[in-house]
Amino acid sequence: MSDIKSLLSNLPSVDEILKSSNGLKWLKNYPRRHVLQAIREVIDIARSAIISGKGTDIQLESLMDKINEKLQKLSAFSLQNVINATGVVIHTNLGRSILSQNIMQHVREIACSYSNLEYDIEKGIRGKRYSHIQNLITQITGAESSLIVNNNAAAVLICLNTIAKGKEVILSRGELVEIGGSFRIPDVMSSSGAILKEVGTTNKTHVKDYEQAITENTVLLLKVHQSNFRMIGFTKSLTLQELVSLGKKSRLPVMFDLGSGCIIDLKPYNIFIEPSVQEIIKTGIDIVTFSGDKLLGGPQGGIIAGKSEWIEQISKNPLMRALRVDKMTLAAFEATFRCYLDEEKAKNQIPTLQMLLQDKTDIKKRAQKALLKIKKYQNFSIHDHCEIKIIEDNSQSGGGALPEIEFPTYAIAVKPYKISVNSLEKRLRKSMHPIIARINEDRLILDMRTVQDNEIETLIEGLIKSLRSFD
Ligand SMILES: *Cc1c(COP(=O)(O)O)cnc(C)c1O
Repeated sequence: MSDIKSLLSNLPSVDEILKSSNGLKWLKNYPRRHVLQAIREVIDIARSAIISGKGTDIQLESLMDKINEKLQKLSAFSLQNVINATGVVIHTNLGRSILSQNIMQHVREIACSYSNLEYDIEKGIRGKRYSHIQNLITQITGAESSLIVNNNAAAVLICLNTIAKGKEVILSRGELVEIGGSFRIPDVMSSSGAILKEVGTTNKTHVKDYEQAITENTVLLLKVHQSNFRMIGFTKSLTLQELVSLGKKSRLPVMFDLGSGCIIDLKPYNIFIEPSVQEIIKTGIDIVTFSGDKLLGGPQGGIIAGKSEWIEQISKNPLMRALRVDKMTLAAFEATFRCYLDEEKAKNQIPTLQMLLQDKTDIKKRAQKALLKIKKYQNFSIHDHCEIKIIEDNSQSGGGALPEIEFPTYAIAVKPYKISVNSLEKRLRKSMHPIIARINEDRLILDMRTVQDNEIETLIEGLIKSLRSFD
């Protein structure tokens, strides 16, 4: 007992640590509250260890190291970069689309200076926020007019609220979808104040189902992209052209929530079976909405494109003020859409497209380059720690886009000898620069499609460190 007492009294006090040379250094480099928190937490842990009989040999030096470690953790940003080694290009949990340095250069310039965000330089009077991108979107998609809001969910919400509040919207039962948990069509519909009128059955909906459901209270025919699920077999739904024709005949506007929305014709790449936004606009549809950060490869946002009469009404909805995008988003969109003026440029400069369309031999080269570096790593023999090789695999696009399409890829497959594959995955995830990978049976798979060139060094460091530490 007296032993414990003396051990406890040997522990330095918070004040003593603060006054030590380390303490003074920390106070210079970190906020005082973090220094105090780190010291207190480390001392508390040491005290509990002593009381429980486990802390018989606590060195001052190791306390200092632990405080230092805690301080580094406290001062790190919570929202931080990770390496996406999952191969899923549009990974919603990892930030969906990434933006190129070129695009960010423009965002930086706009954000760090005053701008003509809502100022008409020609006339010297108040201007319009969306004027900066409307012409571009019109040129690229062929739509008469457009708007951008916070995301596609917001786009669907404001369209329904503007056109159909208190009125009926007809939708096929096969399109009553949920996308990634929180976006459920029936819920968005009720939040908008629109009344959902379901027609058809889960697998089959015919023109006559729509026709029979139309009443004097009907104001909109809605189509929703099935996104990340598919129905196969005994199914029937209206083609978009059939729905648009029905809309014309019944004098009702037709709206399509496209979800991903692709601007580039990907048919030559054999990876896209759906029509592009341009082709959809050509059907004569009234409104389409799609995400900014899915296949478009821009920032988060929801694009509303379509007939001027509807866009005009939507822009006057008070919700527009609540859902509007900020200047950084707008700058990123203008720069992104400008890339689309030249399709080749878009494919090369928009990371999402570039990663989806990259040749698999390029991915293989990147994997080989990384593997070679791992094998040559100084003072480390990779073959003592794992079986490592390059394998052929398939990546997915993610983001509810192209769910049935697999993209041939190359990955580094690692089978660790000294730790389980699960603990290797966990160590990579928790390393200084987190690496997110997937597991396939007893192997860790690092899909090189989504690993950027400038991340390879960090990936290697992280992998070797994780294989090396045996705690
Ligand atoms: C992804 C998706 C949404 C939601 O878009 P966000 O930009 O994430 O708000 C809505 N509808 C469909 C069909 C989608 O695929």
